[in-house]
Amino acid sequence: MKEKKILVWFRNDLRLHDNEMLVEAIAKSDSILPVYFFDPAHFEYNAEGKIKEGNSRVQFLIESVSALRESLKKIGGNLLVVNGSPEEHMPALVEQYEIAEVYHHREVATKETTVSSNVEDLLWKLKVNLKHFIGHTLYNKEDLPFPIKDIPDIFAQFKKKTERDAIVKACFLSPEVISLVEVDSWGELPDYEAVSTGPLGGEESGIAHLNDLFSEGAEIYARINSRTNADKHVYSSKLSPWLALGCLSPRKVYWAVKDAERKFGTNGNFSHLILGLLWRDYFRFMFKKHTLHYFTDIVTDIESPSDAGQSEINLQAWKDGNTGHGLVDKYMNDLNVSGFIPHAGRLIVATFLIYVLKLNWLDGASYFEQKLIDYSPASNWGNWANVAMGGKDPRSKNTFDLDKQIKMLDLEIYAPS
Ligand SMILES: Cc1cc2nc3c(=O)[nH]c(=O)nc-3n(C[C@H](O)[C@H](O)[C@H](O)COP(=O)(O)OP(=O)(O)OC[C@H]3O[C@@H](n4cnc5c(N)ncnc54)[C@H](O)[C@@H]3O)c2cc1C
Repeated sequence: MKEKKILVWFRNDLRLHDNEMLVEAIAKSDSILPVYFFDPAHFEYNAEGKIKEGNSRVQFLIESVSALRESLKKIGGNLLVVNGSPEEHMPALVEQYEIAEVYHHREVATKETTVSSNVEDLLWKLKVNLKHFIGHTLYNKEDLPFPIKDIPDIFAQFKKKTERDAIVKACFLSPEVISLVEVDSWGELPDYEAVSTGPLGGEESGIAHLNDLFSEGAEIYARINSRTNADKHVYSSKLSPWLALGCLSPRKVYWAVKDAERKFGTNGNFSHLILGLLWRDYFRFMFKKHTLHYFTDIVTDIESPSDAGQSEINLQAWKDGNTGHGLVDKYMNDLNVSGFIPHAGRLIVATFLIYVLKLNWLDGASYFEQKLIDYSPASNWGNWANVAMGGKDPRSKNTFDLDKQIKMLDLEIYAPS
Protein backbone atom coordinates (compact mmCIF):
# COMPACT_ATOMS: atom_id res chain seq x y z
CA MET A 1 0.00 0.00 0.00
CA LYS A 2 1.14 3.55 -0.73
CA GLU A 3 2.85 5.33 2.17
CA LYS A 4 0.72 8.09 3.73
CA LYS A 5 2.62 11.37 4.05
CA ILE A 6 1.32 14.42 5.89
CA LEU A 7 2.78 17.90 5.49
CA VAL A 8 2.79 19.79 8.83
CA TRP A 9 2.70 23.50 8.12
CA PHE A 10 4.15 25.41 11.11
CA ARG A 11 3.17 29.05 11.57
CA ASN A 12 2.63 30.63 15.01
CA ASP A 13 2.88 27.25 16.74
CA LEU A 14 6.64 26.80 16.92
CA ARG A 15 6.74 24.05 19.54
CA LEU A 16 6.62 20.31 20.11
CA HIS A 17 4.70 20.41 23.42
CA ASP A 18 0.92 20.71 23.47
CA ASN A 19 0.74 20.51 19.70
CA GLU A 20 -2.29 18.47 18.67
CA MET A 21 -1.60 19.04 14.98
CA LEU A 22 1.82 17.42 15.25
CA VAL A 23 0.64 14.57 17.47
CA GLU A 24 -2.20 13.72 15.07
CA ALA A 25 0.00 14.02 11.98
CA ILE A 26 2.45 11.53 13.46
CA ALA A 27 -0.36 9.16 14.50
CA LYS A 28 -2.17 9.24 11.17
CA SER A 29 0.75 9.01 8.75
CA ASP A 30 3.68 6.83 7.81
CA SER A 31 5.91 9.89 7.62
CA ILE A 32 5.60 13.63 8.00
CA LEU A 33 7.10 16.68 6.31
CA PRO A 34 7.38 19.64 8.76
CA VAL A 35 7.62 22.95 6.84
CA TYR A 36 8.02 26.64 7.68
CA PHE A 37 7.63 29.39 5.07
CA PHE A 38 9.47 32.71 5.33
CA ASP A 39 7.13 34.71 3.16
CA PRO A 40 9.14 37.55 1.52
CA ALA A 41 6.01 39.72 1.60
CA HIS A 42 6.58 40.09 5.35
CA PHE A 43 10.24 41.14 5.23
CA GLU A 44 12.45 43.72 3.58
CA TYR A 45 15.86 42.69 2.24
CA ASN A 46 19.09 44.71 1.93
CA ALA A 47 21.52 44.70 -1.02
CA GLU A 48 23.33 41.59 0.33
CA GLY A 49 20.08 39.67 0.55
CA LYS A 50 19.89 39.85 4.36
CA ILE A 51 16.56 40.55 5.95
CA LYS A 52 16.73 44.29 6.42
CA GLU A 53 14.30 45.16 9.11
CA GLY A 54 17.12 44.75 11.58
CA ASN A 55 14.57 44.60 14.33
CA SER A 56 14.11 42.39 17.32
CA ARG A 57 10.90 40.88 16.01
CA VAL A 58 12.56 39.28 12.99
CA GLN A 59 15.44 38.07 15.13
CA PHE A 60 13.10 36.47 17.69
CA LEU A 61 11.16 34.75 14.90
CA ILE A 62 14.25 33.33 13.19
CA GLU A 63 15.64 32.13 16.52
CA SER A 64 12.31 30.43 17.24
CA VAL A 65 12.18 28.66 13.86
CA SER A 66 15.80 27.59 14.25
CA ALA A 67 15.05 26.22 17.75
CA LEU A 68 12.09 24.26 16.38
CA ARG A 69 14.32 22.70 13.74
CA GLU A 70 16.82 21.66 16.43
CA SER A 71 14.06 20.18 18.64
CA LEU A 72 12.69 18.22 15.69
CA LYS A 73 16.17 16.92 14.87
CA LYS A 74 16.53 15.57 18.42
CA ILE A 75 13.62 13.20 17.79
CA GLY A 76 14.67 12.11 14.31
CA GLY A 77 12.94 14.91 12.45
CA ASN A 78 13.88 18.14 10.70
CA LEU A 79 12.19 21.28 9.40
CA LEU A 80 12.02 22.20 5.74
CA VAL A 81 12.65 25.95 5.54
CA VAL A 82 11.20 27.56 2.43
CA ASN A 83 12.12 31.14 1.58
CA GLY A 84 8.95 31.95 -0.31
CA SER A 85 5.20 32.21 0.17
CA PRO A 86 2.99 29.21 1.02
CA GLU A 87 0.76 30.02 -1.96
CA GLU A 88 3.71 29.86 -4.33
CA HIS A 89 5.41 26.77 -2.95
CA MET A 90 2.81 24.54 -1.25
CA PRO A 91 1.32 22.95 -4.41
CA ALA A 92 4.79 22.07 -5.73
CA LEU A 93 5.82 20.53 -2.39
CA VAL A 94 2.63 18.48 -2.24
CA GLU A 95 3.23 17.12 -5.72
CA GLN A 96 6.97 16.56 -5.32
CA TYR A 97 6.63 14.62 -2.04
CA GLU A 98 3.27 12.98 -2.85
CA ILE A 99 1.62 14.46 0.22
CA ALA A 100 -1.80 13.04 1.12
CA GLU A 101 -2.92 15.79 3.48
CA VAL A 102 -1.72 19.14 4.87
CA TYR A 103 -2.22 20.07 8.57
CA HIS A 104 -2.09 23.56 10.02
CA HIS A 105 -3.38 25.71 12.88
CA ARG A 106 -6.27 28.02 12.15
CA GLU A 107 -5.57 31.74 12.61
CA VAL A 108 -8.10 34.51 13.13
CA ALA A 109 -6.63 37.65 11.57
CA THR A 110 -7.41 38.60 7.99
CA LYS A 111 -3.89 38.45 6.53
CA GLU A 112 -3.35 34.96 7.95
CA THR A 113 -6.79 33.57 7.12
CA THR A 114 -6.47 34.86 3.56
CA VAL A 115 -3.24 32.90 3.13
CA SER A 116 -4.99 29.78 4.50
CA SER A 117 -7.94 30.17 2.13
CA ASN A 118 -5.64 30.70 -0.85
CA VAL A 119 -3.66 27.58 0.04
CA GLU A 120 -6.85 25.61 0.65
CA ASP A 121 -8.12 26.53 -2.85
CA LEU A 122 -4.82 25.54 -4.45
CA LEU A 123 -4.80 22.22 -2.60
CA TRP A 124 -8.38 21.49 -3.61
CA LYS A 125 -7.28 21.58 -7.23
CA LEU A 126 -4.83 18.79 -6.35
CA LYS A 127 -7.57 16.97 -4.38
CA VAL A 128 -5.59 17.38 -1.17
CA ASN A 129 -7.27 18.41 2.06
CA LEU A 130 -6.05 21.23 4.33
CA LYS A 131 -6.97 20.23 7.87
CA HIS A 132 -7.43 23.01 10.41
CA PHE A 133 -6.46 22.68 14.07
CA ILE A 134 -7.10 24.94 17.04
CA GLY A 135 -4.17 25.47 19.32
CA HIS A 136 -3.64 29.13 20.07
CA THR A 137 -6.08 29.72 22.88
CA LEU A 138 -6.43 28.68 26.50
CA TYR A 139 -10.02 27.54 25.89
CA ASN A 140 -10.95 25.68 22.72
CA LYS A 141 -13.89 27.33 21.04
CA GLU A 142 -15.84 24.04 21.22
CA ASP A 143 -15.48 24.09 25.00
CA LEU A 144 -16.89 27.59 25.46
CA PRO A 145 -20.34 27.80 27.03
CA PHE A 146 -21.61 29.71 23.96
CA PRO A 147 -21.26 29.50 20.18
CA ILE A 148 -18.86 32.05 18.66
CA LYS A 149 -21.72 34.25 17.47
CA ASP A 150 -23.06 34.57 21.05
CA ILE A 151 -19.77 35.21 22.84
CA PRO A 152 -20.37 38.23 25.12
CA ASP A 153 -18.71 41.37 23.77
CA ILE A 154 -18.15 42.59 27.31
CA PHE A 155 -14.96 41.12 28.68
CA ALA A 156 -16.22 40.77 32.26
CA GLN A 157 -19.16 38.63 31.08
CA PHE A 158 -16.96 36.55 28.81
CA LYS A 159 -14.57 35.93 31.72
CA LYS A 160 -17.25 35.10 34.26
CA LYS A 161 -19.13 32.60 32.13
CA THR A 162 -16.03 31.01 30.62
CA GLU A 163 -14.31 30.47 33.96
CA ARG A 164 -17.52 29.11 35.46
CA ASP A 165 -18.60 26.76 32.66
CA ALA A 166 -15.58 25.82 30.54
CA ILE A 167 -12.54 23.74 31.30
CA VAL A 168 -8.93 24.13 30.29
CA LYS A 169 -7.79 20.88 28.73
CA ALA A 170 -4.60 19.06 29.65
CA CYS A 171 -1.59 19.63 27.38
CA PHE A 172 -0.75 17.17 24.62
CA LEU A 173 2.55 15.43 25.30
CA SER A 174 5.56 16.21 23.10
CA PRO A 175 6.22 13.47 20.55
CA GLU A 176 9.28 11.36 21.22
CA VAL A 177 10.03 10.13 17.75
CA ILE A 178 9.26 11.24 14.22
CA SER A 179 9.34 9.38 10.96
CA LEU A 180 10.34 11.78 8.25
CA VAL A 181 9.64 12.16 4.55
CA GLU A 182 12.94 11.89 2.65
CA VAL A 183 14.19 15.30 1.57
CA ASP A 184 17.46 16.20 -0.21
CA SER A 185 17.92 19.71 1.04
CA TRP A 186 16.20 21.11 4.13
CA GLY A 187 16.80 24.77 3.18
CA GLU A 188 18.61 27.59 4.90
CA LEU A 189 17.25 29.98 7.49
CA PRO A 190 17.26 33.56 6.19
CA ASP A 191 20.24 35.71 7.03
CA TYR A 192 19.45 38.74 9.20
CA GLU A 193 21.10 41.65 10.91
CA ALA A 194 21.34 40.73 14.59
CA VAL A 195 20.27 43.66 16.73
CA SER A 196 18.50 42.51 19.80
CA THR A 197 19.88 41.71 23.18
CA GLY A 198 16.37 40.73 24.25
CA PRO A 199 15.09 37.24 25.12
CA LEU A 200 16.11 34.27 23.00
CA GLY A 201 13.36 32.91 20.77
CA GLY A 202 12.29 29.26 20.79
CA GLU A 203 10.47 26.64 22.80
CA GLU A 204 13.41 25.68 24.98
CA SER A 205 14.15 29.23 26.13
CA GLY A 206 10.40 29.86 26.61
CA ILE A 207 10.12 26.82 28.88
CA ALA A 208 13.28 27.87 30.74
CA HIS A 209 11.75 31.33 31.28
CA LEU A 210 8.51 29.75 32.51
CA ASN A 211 10.43 27.53 34.94
CA ASP A 212 12.41 30.55 36.21
CA LEU A 213 9.17 32.44 36.83
CA PHE A 214 8.05 29.77 39.26
CA SER A 215 11.42 28.85 40.72
CA GLU A 216 12.00 29.26 44.44
CA GLY A 217 12.37 32.85 45.57
CA ALA A 218 11.14 34.22 42.22
CA GLU A 219 9.52 37.66 41.97
CA ILE A 220 6.11 36.10 41.41
CA TYR A 221 6.04 35.05 45.09
CA ALA A 222 8.10 37.88 46.57
CA ARG A 223 5.66 40.60 45.61
CA ILE A 224 2.56 38.90 46.96
CA ASN A 225 2.44 40.66 50.28
CA SER A 226 4.26 43.83 49.36
CA ARG A 227 1.73 45.27 46.98
CA THR A 228 1.22 48.96 47.39
CA ASN A 229 -0.90 51.20 45.22
CA ALA A 230 2.23 52.17 43.31
CA ASP A 231 3.15 48.68 42.16
CA LYS A 232 -0.38 47.31 41.84
CA HIS A 233 -0.92 45.60 38.50
CA VAL A 234 2.66 46.07 37.33
CA TYR A 235 3.70 42.44 37.62
CA SER A 236 4.92 41.40 34.20
CA SER A 237 5.79 37.79 33.40
CA LYS A 238 7.34 38.80 30.02
CA LEU A 239 5.96 35.57 28.56
CA SER A 240 4.22 37.28 25.66
CA PRO A 241 6.88 36.84 22.93
CA TRP A 242 6.89 33.05 23.36
CA LEU A 243 3.10 32.95 23.57
CA ALA A 244 2.73 35.07 20.44
CA LEU A 245 4.81 32.70 18.28
CA GLY A 246 3.41 29.61 19.94
CA CYS A 247 6.79 28.61 21.42
CA LEU A 248 4.74 28.25 24.60
CA SER A 249 1.13 27.15 24.63
CA PRO A 250 -1.25 29.13 26.87
CA ARG A 251 -2.31 25.82 28.45
CA LYS A 252 1.29 25.08 29.42
CA VAL A 253 1.44 28.46 31.18
CA TYR A 254 -1.97 27.91 32.81
CA TRP A 255 -1.02 24.51 34.20
CA ALA A 256 2.31 25.86 35.45
CA VAL A 257 0.34 28.47 37.43
CA LYS A 258 -2.03 25.81 38.78
CA ASP A 259 0.94 23.71 39.83
CA ALA A 260 2.47 26.64 41.68
CA GLU A 261 -0.92 27.37 43.30
CA ARG A 262 -1.07 23.84 44.62
CA LYS A 263 2.40 24.17 46.12
CA PHE A 264 2.31 27.74 47.42
CA GLY A 265 -1.36 28.75 47.56
CA THR A 266 -3.10 31.38 45.46
CA ASN A 267 -1.76 34.89 45.05
CA GLY A 268 -2.50 38.07 43.12
CA ASN A 269 0.28 37.59 40.59
CA PHE A 270 -1.01 34.13 39.66
CA SER A 271 -4.50 35.57 39.09
CA HIS A 272 -3.00 38.45 37.09
CA LEU A 273 -1.23 35.98 34.79
CA ILE A 274 -4.37 33.95 34.18
CA LEU A 275 -6.37 37.14 33.66
CA GLY A 276 -3.86 38.09 30.93
CA LEU A 277 -4.41 34.73 29.21
CA LEU A 278 -8.17 35.36 29.29
CA TRP A 279 -7.73 38.79 27.70
CA ARG A 280 -5.64 37.12 25.05
CA ASP A 281 -8.41 34.57 24.33
CA TYR A 282 -11.06 37.29 24.41
CA PHE A 283 -9.43 39.36 21.67
CA ARG A 284 -8.95 36.30 19.49
CA PHE A 285 -12.58 35.28 19.92
CA MET A 286 -13.72 38.85 19.22
CA PHE A 287 -11.73 38.75 15.98
CA LYS A 288 -13.35 35.44 15.14
CA LYS A 289 -16.84 36.71 15.96
CA HIS A 290 -16.74 40.17 14.38
CA THR A 291 -13.82 39.73 11.97
CA LEU A 292 -12.10 43.00 11.12
CA HIS A 293 -15.21 45.02 12.05
CA TYR A 294 -14.40 44.68 15.73
CA PHE A 295 -11.41 46.92 15.13
CA THR A 296 -12.33 48.98 12.09
CA ASP A 297 -15.79 50.09 13.24
CA ILE A 298 -14.20 52.19 15.99
CA VAL A 299 -15.43 55.76 15.91
CA THR A 300 -13.58 58.30 18.04
CA ASP A 301 -14.58 61.88 18.67
CA ILE A 302 -11.03 63.17 18.31
CA GLU A 303 -10.56 65.80 15.63
CA SER A 304 -7.45 65.24 13.52
CA PRO A 305 -5.10 68.22 13.17
CA SER A 306 -5.61 70.06 9.86
CA ASP A 307 -1.87 70.29 9.15
CA ALA A 308 -1.07 66.93 7.52
CA GLY A 309 2.63 67.79 7.19
CA GLN A 310 2.91 68.46 10.92
CA SER A 311 1.07 65.19 11.67
CA GLU A 312 3.66 63.33 9.59
CA ILE A 313 6.46 64.98 11.56
CA ASN A 314 4.74 64.18 14.87
CA LEU A 315 4.22 60.55 13.90
CA GLN A 316 7.89 60.20 12.99
CA ALA A 317 8.94 61.85 16.27
CA TRP A 318 6.70 59.41 18.17
CA LYS A 319 8.23 56.45 16.34
CA ASP A 320 11.76 57.72 16.96
CA GLY A 321 11.16 58.41 20.65
CA ASN A 322 11.73 62.08 19.99
CA THR A 323 8.52 63.78 21.08
CA GLY A 324 10.12 65.76 23.90
CA HIS A 325 7.98 63.90 26.44
CA GLY A 326 10.44 62.01 28.63
CA LEU A 327 8.29 59.05 29.53
CA VAL A 328 6.85 58.49 26.06
CA ASP A 329 10.32 58.80 24.50
CA LYS A 330 11.83 56.37 27.00
CA TYR A 331 9.20 53.73 26.23
CA MET A 332 9.44 54.27 22.45
CA ASN A 333 13.22 53.91 22.65
CA ASP A 334 12.78 50.70 24.65
CA LEU A 335 10.37 49.45 21.99
CA ASN A 336 12.78 50.30 19.17
CA VAL A 337 15.73 48.62 20.87
CA SER A 338 14.24 45.53 22.48
CA GLY A 339 10.81 45.11 20.86
CA PHE A 340 9.16 44.89 24.27
CA ILE A 341 7.54 47.34 26.67
CA PRO A 342 5.26 46.51 29.59
CA HIS A 343 1.51 46.98 29.43
CA ALA A 344 1.56 50.34 31.27
CA GLY A 345 4.11 51.64 28.75
CA ARG A 346 1.96 50.52 25.82
CA LEU A 347 -1.05 52.30 27.28
CA ILE A 348 0.95 55.47 27.78
CA VAL A 349 2.50 55.71 24.30
CA ALA A 350 -0.84 54.79 22.70
CA THR A 351 -2.67 57.42 24.76
CA PHE A 352 -0.07 60.02 23.78
CA LEU A 353 -0.38 59.22 20.08
CA ILE A 354 -4.17 59.32 20.09
CA TYR A 355 -5.07 62.01 22.61
CA VAL A 356 -2.07 64.33 22.74
CA LEU A 357 -0.74 64.18 19.18
CA LYS A 358 -4.26 63.45 17.88
CA LEU A 359 -2.96 61.00 15.29
CA ASN A 360 -4.77 58.04 13.76
CA TRP A 361 -4.56 55.00 16.09
CA LEU A 362 -4.14 52.71 13.08
CA ASP A 363 -0.71 54.31 12.43
CA GLY A 364 0.33 53.52 15.99
CA ALA A 365 -0.94 49.96 15.77
CA SER A 366 0.91 49.43 12.47
CA TYR A 367 4.14 50.62 14.04
CA PHE A 368 3.66 48.21 16.96
CA GLU A 369 3.11 45.46 14.38
CA GLN A 370 6.57 46.13 12.93
CA LYS A 371 8.35 46.35 16.24
CA LEU A 372 6.80 44.19 18.97
CA ILE A 373 8.48 40.83 19.48
CA ASP A 374 5.15 39.65 20.92
CA TYR A 375 3.12 41.05 18.02
CA SER A 376 -0.14 39.22 17.77
CA PRO A 377 -2.85 40.66 15.48
CA ALA A 378 -5.86 40.23 17.77
CA SER A 379 -4.06 41.41 20.93
CA ASN A 380 -2.45 44.37 19.21
CA TRP A 381 -5.43 45.72 17.25
CA GLY A 382 -7.83 44.89 20.08
CA ASN A 383 -5.84 46.77 22.70
CA TRP A 384 -5.28 49.75 20.40
CA ALA A 385 -9.00 49.85 19.67
CA ASN A 386 -9.70 49.88 23.42
CA VAL A 387 -7.38 52.85 23.92
CA ALA A 388 -8.88 54.63 20.92
CA MET A 389 -12.31 54.27 22.49
CA GLY A 390 -10.93 55.61 25.77
CA GLY A 391 -12.95 53.14 27.79
CA LYS A 392 -16.21 54.57 26.41
CA ASP A 393 -16.90 51.42 24.50
CA PRO A 394 -19.16 49.12 26.54
CA ARG A 395 -17.12 46.21 25.22
CA SER A 396 -14.09 47.36 27.18
CA LYS A 397 -15.82 49.06 30.09
CA ASN A 398 -13.67 49.29 33.22
CA THR A 399 -10.58 48.13 31.42
CA PHE A 400 -9.12 51.42 30.35
CA ASP A 401 -8.99 54.60 32.35
CA LEU A 402 -8.10 57.49 30.06
CA ASP A 403 -7.90 60.04 32.87
CA LYS A 404 -5.43 57.84 34.70
CA GLN A 405 -3.23 57.47 31.63
CA ILE A 406 -3.25 61.20 30.98
CA LYS A 407 -2.37 61.83 34.62
CA MET A 408 0.57 59.45 34.27
CA LEU A 409 1.70 61.38 31.23
CA ASP A 410 1.44 64.66 33.12
CA LEU A 411 3.13 63.50 36.27
CA GLU A 412 5.51 60.92 34.84
CA ILE A 413 4.86 58.81 37.91
CA TYR A 414 5.56 55.52 36.21
CA ALA A 415 9.26 54.84 36.00
CA PRO A 416 9.90 52.77 32.88
CA SER A 417 11.71 49.51 33.37
C1 LIG B 1 -1.58 49.32 22.67
C2 LIG B 1 -1.33 47.89 23.11
C3 LIG B 1 -0.86 46.94 22.20
C4 LIG B 1 -0.64 45.61 22.60
N1 LIG B 1 -0.17 44.71 21.68
C5 LIG B 1 0.03 43.41 22.06
C6 LIG B 1 0.50 42.43 21.13
O1 LIG B 1 0.71 42.70 19.94
N2 LIG B 1 0.73 41.17 21.58
C7 LIG B 1 0.49 40.81 22.90
O2 LIG B 1 0.72 39.66 23.27
N3 LIG B 1 -0.01 41.70 23.77
C8 LIG B 1 -0.24 42.99 23.41
N4 LIG B 1 -0.72 43.90 24.33
C9 LIG B 1 -1.17 43.40 25.64
C10 LIG B 1 -0.14 43.46 26.77
O3 LIG B 1 0.40 44.75 26.87
C11 LIG B 1 0.97 42.44 26.62
O4 LIG B 1 0.43 41.15 26.39
C12 LIG B 1 1.79 42.38 27.91
O5 LIG B 1 2.34 43.65 28.17
C13 LIG B 1 2.89 41.35 27.77
O6 LIG B 1 3.66 41.35 28.91
P1 LIG B 1 3.67 40.11 29.90
O7 LIG B 1 3.95 38.88 29.13
O8 LIG B 1 4.61 40.47 31.01
O9 LIG B 1 2.18 40.10 30.40
P2 LIG B 1 1.52 39.52 31.74
O10 LIG B 1 0.87 40.65 32.40
O11 LIG B 1 2.48 38.72 32.52
O12 LIG B 1 0.34 38.58 31.16
C14 LIG B 1 0.52 37.20 30.80
C15 LIG B 1 0.11 37.00 29.35
O13 LIG B 1 -1.26 37.32 29.16
C16 LIG B 1 -1.45 37.94 27.86
N5 LIG B 1 -1.98 39.30 28.08
C17 LIG B 1 -1.85 40.08 29.18
N6 LIG B 1 -2.51 41.24 29.03
C18 LIG B 1 -3.09 41.19 27.81
C19 LIG B 1 -3.93 42.09 27.08
N7 LIG B 1 -4.33 43.28 27.57
N8 LIG B 1 -4.32 41.73 25.84
C20 LIG B 1 -3.95 40.54 25.31
N9 LIG B 1 -3.17 39.66 25.97
C21 LIG B 1 -2.76 39.97 27.19
C22 LIG B 1 -0.09 37.97 27.20
O14 LIG B 1 0.04 36.86 26.36
C23 LIG B 1 0.87 37.89 28.37
O15 LIG B 1 2.11 37.33 28.05
C24 LIG B 1 -0.93 45.25 23.95
C25 LIG B 1 -1.40 46.20 24.85
C26 LIG B 1 -1.59 47.50 24.43
C27 LIG B 1 -2.10 48.53 25.42
